Amino acid sequence: MTRKILVTSALPYANGAIHLGHLVEYIQTDIWTRFQKMRGHECWYVCADDTHGTPIMLRAEKEGISPEALIARVHAEHSRDFAGFHVAFDNYHTTHSDETRFYSEDIYGKLKAAGLIEVRSIEQFYDPVKNMFLPDRFIKGECPKCGAKDQYGDACESCGAAYAPTELKNPYSAVSGAKPELRSSDHYFFKLSDPRCQEFLRRATRAVCENQPEAINKLQEWLGEPGENKLTDWDISRDAPYFGFEIPGAPGKFFYVWLDAPIGYMGSFKNLCKKKGLDFDAFWGKGSQAELYHFIGKDILYFHALFWPAELEHAGYRIPTSVFAHGFLTVDGAKMSKSRGTFITAESYLTQGLNPEWLRYYFAAKLNGSMEDIDLNLDDFVSRVNSDLVGKYINIASRAAGFIAKRFGGKLDARHLNETFRAELPGLIEAGEEIAAQYEARDFARALRRVMALADQINQYVDKHQPWQLAKQEGQDAKLQEVCSLLINAFRLLTIYLKPVLPKLAQRAEEFLNVAPLHWADAGHLLPPAHLINAYEHLMQRIDPKQIEALVAANRESLAPTSAAVAPAPTPEPSPQRKAQHQQATEDKTQGQAEPKAQHISIDDFAKVDLRIARIADAKHVEGADKLIQLTLDLGTETRNVFAGIKSAYDPAQLVGRLTVMVANLAPRKMKFGMSEGMVLAASDADGKSPGIYLLSPDSGAQPGMRVK
Ligand SMILES: [Zn+2]
Repeated sequence: MTRKILVTSALPYANGAIHLGHLVEYIQTDIWTRFQKMRGHECWYVCADDTHGTPIMLRAEKEGISPEALIARVHAEHSRDFAGFHVAFDNYHTTHSDETRFYSEDIYGKLKAAGLIEVRSIEQFYDPVKNMFLPDRFIKGECPKCGAKDQYGDACESCGAAYAPTELKNPYSAVSGAKPELRSSDHYFFKLSDPRCQEFLRRATRAVCENQPEAINKLQEWLGEPGENKLTDWDISRDAPYFGFEIPGAPGKFFYVWLDAPIGYMGSFKNLCKKKGLDFDAFWGKGSQAELYHFIGKDILYFHALFWPAELEHAGYRIPTSVFAHGFLTVDGAKMSKSRGTFITAESYLTQGLNPEWLRYYFAAKLNGSMEDIDLNLDDFVSRVNSDLVGKYINIASRAAGFIAKRFGGKLDARHLNETFRAELPGLIEAGEEIAAQYEARDFARALRRVMALADQINQYVDKHQPWQLAKQEGQDAKLQEVCSLLINAFRLLTIYLKPVLPKLAQRAEEFLNVAPLHWADAGHLLPPAHLINAYEHLMQRIDPKQIEALVAANRESLAPTSAAVAPAPTPEPSPQRKAQHQQATEDKTQGQAEPKAQHISIDDFAKVDLRIARIADAKHVEGADKLIQLTLDLGTETRNVFAGIKSAYDPAQLVGRLTVMVANLAPRKMKFGMSEGMVLAASDADGKSPGIYLLSPDSGAQPGMRVK
């Protein structure tokens, strides 16, 4: 049965560069849609730049260009970056479009007719120099809780307190520096608290989140018990000057993000319908049989699971089949940081010459369909790509192709090998449906583990038959051709299973295999007898760890203090759709303090310390301890129990499996929580403040138990 599926990713704000944190979502969505297409379904993937709002208006003004020119430039940059990572939208549009305007006005008109729009006067900070109302992010002042200076109007970066901008002490406008005045203005609200919305959401939105138990729990919390009314009305308007769509019948009032950005999903799809002759209503009309999925960050779940379905329902459109929320990206266990060089832009990754499919593979290997955060551990990235992709998968083709080319003129065995294949490599064909089910459930991590287990099985077959030995023996030509033909077929199957993740590599493999673009159904059969393959060219390079060092160096911003005397620059308000990724980007400022070096010691003194490579076999929280993580360290020949004060910087789950360095001959120490049998090494600044703790890791290749000298 062919399914009709429409898929979206959240809209990136047209005010900044795409970075690796964004790419988690676009790569996740792209893998899923490519998989659906390979299965033969009608699947469309649309997205757009989110182009409206005060930050865009002010930035364009600062650059001396029109907002239209700014968003056109950013659209080109975003499109380039997504294409560079093989994110294949069927349409990448803009919210500044006739289509989005049409649906914004249409939905607004229907909600208004249904009595779900209300006008209320609210008080807001106003910049009397710039003559405009100020978004929270454009008001700064002293934190009402801790007194820290230069804090934003919504939250303090120093103590973490959240507050209203009116609570700031000595507030000033980040646009002009003027002292803001409180003024009142009429705002338009969508009445999410209306009993009709409550009733509808209680009935309908569980289904929207049914794939994610964590999301259901959140919904329960937000909706409260039956009879409770915990939902509040949403402000959907902003006052001029504003870059966006003016509200019909309300001069000087503009649609704010909630009645604008997500409607870009519809606008982009409508634009695609025009290009392809598709029926819009078949996907968005009430009673549509098509499936509609929104991939989003967990920070905008409330919006997509409550506000958006309520808005669609009461404007006469269908609601999403499901929203799929994912977690955030950390790099080496910490927030992305400009000063550490881990705030990595898509553009810098590509211009440094790194292969985008390395990152696609690594993200896929970590994505399991849940809302957990995922960590890009740079050492693990290098070793996993090199050992899995190159060492296990690519290696299969490179070991067999040469013999087929040189000894058999590129021709595979002329016999039907189906039975031999099933006998020698059992389960390889049958695994196809199991892996498909894992992709369908967005558990890419499990799918890739299964594929790599199959690759191990194939490599064992190689070791058992040793084609390079067969090639030297008299009278073994037929066997050699059979073994290599099975291997080429096995490589082709793995290519099908990996194709959603590695589209470019798969395309090159298809050229080598001399086959048409592979679909999932092709996994049900082998290549025909006597099939001719093309000459093999190496399909993927290993990552050189130096490339990662260069990437981090290229993204590391100088820590030189900026001259604080100049007027404060307007810091962009994060797009509400993208707010958390902005928060993620907020860097720590607590590093680089110099610590005085200790006095000299002799080499003999140093040799007394027995440093060893250890693998973290297990890591657990310690009940009642707020700094400690309990580690089980594997030294190759023995394991040790160690309590390490690294909880502020690491999540135990992220530590399991990684290598580190330990002091193996430290006298065991009895602690409140048990015996600690050694110590792991970590770097930190003078005061050891969170998150400035960095566990040491050896280069890849080191083995547990090795001495560090
Ligand atoms: Zn504070």
